Amino acid sequence: MDKFLNLNITDLLTLLGHDTRGRVPGWEVGWIVFGVVIWVFFVLFLSVLVYNDAERRGANGLLWFIVVFFTMLLGLIIWLIVRPPKKERVERRVMVEKVLVCPYCRTENAPNTQFCSNCGSSLE
Ligand SMILES: [Zn+2]
Repeated sequence: MDKFLNLNITDLLTLLGHDTRGRVPGWEVGWIVFGVVIWVFFVLFLSVLVYNDAERRGANGLLWFIVVFFTMLLGLIIWLIVRPPKKERVERRVMVEKVLVCPYCRTENAPNTQFCSNCGSSLE
């Protein structure tokens, strides 16, 4: 019984990459670790991309970062489906609304200008 148990532990350690004679883990284990690290960096990269995209579109970037990090490609696909349109378009419309129209000559002036660029009238 004792010998049977010893044999099993030896097999288990060999499976885990630890040779009982003190040899370092085989190159196969190294490649698996390398692959996992590359994969984690890839997922992290995707998550950061989605984070930036979400923030730019006025969504919760941190929430989407977590979603994509844990669900990976599934989260990315969901984001691509549900993501709102770019915020920049909305901002441009607001900018147009903020343009100061001269009450005398109807010239459009940039926001925060005090005098009309066409006729020089006060815009306040
Ligand atoms: Zn004017």
